[in-house]
Amino acid sequence: KQMEFISLAAHELRGPITVMRGLVDILQDEAGPKLSSEHNELITRIIVSARQLAGYVDNILGASRVDRDTFEVHLAEASWSNVVAQSVRDLSVRAQAHHRTLECKIAKDLPSVAVDSSAIMHVINNLVDNAIKYSPENGKVIVNAVLKDDFVETTIQDFGIGIPANVVDNLFTKFYRSHRSKQIVSGTGLGLYLCKAIVEAHGGSIWVRSTEGSGTTFGFTLPTYASVADQIKAGASEEGIIRGNHGWIKNHALYRR
Ligand code: ATP
Ligand code: MG
Repeated sequence: KQMEFISLAAHELRGPITVMRGLVDILQDEAGPKLSSEHNELITRIIVSARQLAGYVDNILGASRVDRDTFEVHLAEASWSNVVAQSVRDLSVRAQAHHRTLECKIAKDLPSVAVDSSAIMHVINNLVDNAIKYSPENGKVIVNAVLKDDFVETTIQDFGIGIPANVVDNLFTKFYRSHRSKQIVSGTGLGLYLCKAIVEAHGGSIWVRSTEGSGTTFGFTLPTYASVADQIKAGASEEGIIRGNHGWIKNHALYRR
């Protein structure tokens, strides 16, 4: 019930946020060159905050779709380095505004992956957002990806506060936030819940390794396009099924827990 109300409200927020983001982008493009660096800095801060607001709204709407079993992914072939580069470009502005460095080490020669680009960008956004939020000023965040058999494994590493071993099992649960993070930074506790749903809907898996006080690495896998191309093509006609680490999923079908 609570989620239903929140998602209705989030849905209404979407329109005005999109308008604000579009207008501030125009302002930056057209007025930016004539403004002082201080005023440009203010515009950048508006852009970063508007993106963050849009991220909250996306998380709420995504999580509510997962809850209602109406969350779908539409898998297609994509260059992983391009998808990540596009996300990282946007996230670098946020990292910079928070005085963090974002490093991206994605090899250009990775095979293409089978992804729903807009859904999977939420995963990168949430994991990098966390890495920025839960690490100190001037901290570094490293995004890396390697090929592992039929999967591309992407990792997001930070050198921040880390996660106590006894709470790791709770991280991917809806609304979960650790005690310490509640004190230092705001959040809804929906990000990782949604990340898990999205990654598993792709037939991949998500994991975390962390040492309290020294840093955290989140990783997730996605199938290479070649390994699932036949099923995706079959799915385009009807019952395409993809073998994931967590069982069978259907392309163009609902994610089910
Ligand atoms: P939001 O919904 O805005 O993302 P959130 O960041 O609190 O809020 P999640 O992204 O789901 O929610 O993360 C859940 C919890 O996991 C966080 O509150 C934090 O305690 C812990 N956590 C996640 N990522 C990290 C990280 N990189 N370093 C340390 N703790 C983390
Ligand atoms: Mg988060």
